[in-house]
Amino acid sequence: MRESGEPESGEPDRWPGAGGPPFDPERFRREGRVVIDWIADYWASLPAQRVLSDVEPGEIAARLPAAAPETPESLAAVLGDLERIIVPGLTHWQHPGFFAYFPANASGPSILGELLSAGLGIQGMLWTTSPAATELEGIVVDWLRQLLGLPDRFRLGGDGGGMIQDSASSGLLCCLVAARERAAASGTGPCLVYASADAHSSVVKGAKIAGFPPAAIRRIDTDSAGRLRPDLLEAAMRDDAAAGRVPCFVVATVGTTARGAIDPVAAIGTIARRYGAWLHVDAAWAGTAAICSELRPMIVDGAELADSWGTNPHKSMLVNFDCHCLWIASRQTLATALTTKPDYLRTAVGDTGAVVDYSDWQVPLGRRFRALKLWMVLRMIGAEALRQRVRDQVAWTAEFADIVAADPAFEILSPPSLALVTFALRAGDEATTELLARVNRAGSVFLSHARVGGRHAIRLAVGGTLTSRADVLGAWGVIAAAAADPVLMSKARGRPAGER
Ligand code: PLP
Repeated sequence: MRESGEPESGEPDRWPGAGGPPFDPERFRREGRVVIDWIADYWASLPAQRVLSDVEPGEIAARLPAAAPETPESLAAVLGDLERIIVPGLTHWQHPGFFAYFPANASGPSILGELLSAGLGIQGMLWTTSPAATELEGIVVDWLRQLLGLPDRFRLGGDGGGMIQDSASSGLLCCLVAARERAAASGTGPCLVYASADAHSSVVKGAKIAGFPPAAIRRIDTDSAGRLRPDLLEAAMRDDAAAGRVPCFVVATVGTTARGAIDPVAAIGTIARRYGAWLHVDAAWAGTAAICSELRPMIVDGAELADSWGTNPHKSMLVNFDCHCLWIASRQTLATALTTKPDYLRTAVGDTGAVVDYSDWQVPLGRRFRALKLWMVLRMIGAEALRQRVRDQVAWTAEFADIVAADPAFEILSPPSLALVTFALRAGDEATTELLARVNRAGSVFLSHARVGGRHAIRLAVGGTLTSRADVLGAWGVIAAAAADPVLMSKARGRPAGER
């Protein structure tokens, strides 16, 4: 990889405060090219790297100086250290063999969008602090709403609207606070939150941050496919309401983290309405697959009953982390709950209500220009190619699952849900744990684990930017080879190898 970027003509290597100009376009141009080349080389090198970093705790920190330099260093020196010290300590999320957690995609157009956002250096907290940032965000998020087939109630222009937040966790937190304020306006008892036992940890974290005591969170049991049971939700809400408590916030998950289960949103929404509770749909991972019309019904079904609906294009839709799209049916309710406008943030146009100040819809005041990367992905890659990626990933996952199911040593613990499947060794949890550790140690792939139906499951989540069918089938090759090792099985059974 290239490490240059030194000035060509002996000019002083100085940035502002060190005798240089505040911004030197020529130096920036030169060093920018070096960095872009470095990134291109990094991506080209990925297939040959280990996916999972194998450094020991503290190893990277020990290689770094304990204090910042007093005098400027060259880009070449920094890139040299990046390669020597930092890269070995990276887990390569863009590696084609990355199948762990859910993907965090990056792509050429999106990286360039991030670069432009940094290069423009604007901060879009209010409409007036960069009208184009606010208006582009409103438009591209509505483009995505249309592509996913989400209802008109989330359209900016009516009562609702869409925005970009950093994460699904932040989006959920904001909706939870809005739901609490709405409930407080009409009820007097303690407010309660409902979500399935398999809902994401961000529900509990959000409730903690919003000040809900642990006893105010109802985890509703799931059916054998991991979906929230509406009958149990109804019973819990009925009992709570009868006891003077206020059902406030219900989370339906479209694509649970462990196994990709899809809660029955329409049934849940009907119950939530009956008790006046806010329905939030957490479609963080699965939501963007609704871009394919044949997958849309199971993903957006019931969305017309939701008060808020969120998904992460930064997972599988080629947009760099971070990009969570959140749609809200009543933007007034959200803004009323979150707005704290001191005099110095008030503007004449903001006071008219004719524009959106997106900082009123989120936790931080400041806002990055995230819409650029989503805009660039939608324009430069296009909906058709994004749909094809989803279809391919779903098909490859099904193919992988068929191969696993045909091997008598393995069993599928949850059938493919979109591009996620979980499986285990029939020999039991211990053998499965050992197998996963071996597979990940080998270095060419990285898979993660979850508990599914009380069992230790290996999760294969397909969706990496570079991941191809050959990589998915290659992952099975690595897994099958590791499982065939007699030492593994004997270790799992607690017997020496060779003893049956
Ligand atoms: N909800 C679900 C279903 C998830 O799978 C995840 C993360 O994977 C989240 C929420 C949290 O996402 P974020 O990292 O954007 O907060």
